Amino acid sequence: MRAVVQNDKSRASGRASTGVRIVLAVLGLAVIASGCAQDDGSDLVAPAGGQQPLDAPPARALDSYATRLRAAHAARTAAAHRWDLRKVPLTAPPAPAEKPRIRTRKGFEVDGHRRLNLPPVFTTVPTRNKVVFLTIDDGAEKDRAFLRMMSDLDVPYTAFLSGYLVKDDTRYFRTMQSRGVVLNNHTLHHPNLRGLSYRAQKREICGMQRYMEKRFGKRPALFRPPFGSYDRATLRAAKACGIAYVPLWNEEVFADRWEYREANRKLRPGDIVLTHFRGRDQWKGTMTDMVRRFLNKVTAQGYAVGRLEDYL
Ligand SMILES: [Zn+2]
Repeated sequence: MRAVVQNDKSRASGRASTGVRIVLAVLGLAVIASGCAQDDGSDLVAPAGGQQPLDAPPARALDSYATRLRAAHAARTAAAHRWDLRKVPLTAPPAPAEKPRIRTRKGFEVDGHRRLNLPPVFTTVPTRNKVVFLTIDDGAEKDRAFLRMMSDLDVPYTAFLSGYLVKDDTRYFRTMQSRGVVLNNHTLHHPNLRGLSYRAQKREICGMQRYMEKRFGKRPALFRPPFGSYDRATLRAAKACGIAYVPLWNEEVFADRWEYREANRKLRPGDIVLTHFRGRDQWKGTMTDMVRRFLNKVTAQGYAVGRLEDYL
């Protein structure tokens, strides 16, 4: 019963937050620079008495700007409350003006990686910003509440889809795409690629590129091998299919737990976090339980969720 109530509320707020997002887009970087905490608009008040500088916006525009800032913050707080988050998620800093140089993680290279200019394989994006990136794989579960939650909270993520899992409901993923999520390649049939022939690997990767172009109108630039398992043929095939990056992950979040690649069990700036489109039949909870677990941990450690594409 509670879930039904929450769904109805979140549908209404989904509409509201679309408005908020438009406002945020219009206000651009200024909103991010000001942050949510600053909602008294004190630095936005026009100088008292005397004349305003010629290029200053009129006082009325500044008032409405402050009002919109307050509204955006209020919407974010309300959304966090609605979805039972412990804290309001932090706002990510603006996209870096200069893209970081992405290199293959030590120990993840294949023979001739550099000489052949093969796509970099990495688990963390070099940045000092306290951001992590959420990536979601496969596509078995098509959870509508998850879409509402992510729109409502305005949390970015990147999807890696496998053709055989998404083909029964590509509309679900087109909806996601229309909300700004970038859809990427995770092969046609999700095989363990390592050890397969170059031709077989190319069929899986290039085949999915063609499928993505047909169904979603774009050939992805990102590819993630199933199980994170690859060899030199994988990267050669990926490159031949037009892939520029092979992001893996440093942590994995489930509906009921986290798993870390590193022993220190801590998030680091630029970490890529993996999760999956899964439902109750595949793990202990729902997609929204997973997002709640993810955001609670990330926010508690002082991290915002960034857009991976902003850094590539
Ligand atoms: Zn997978």
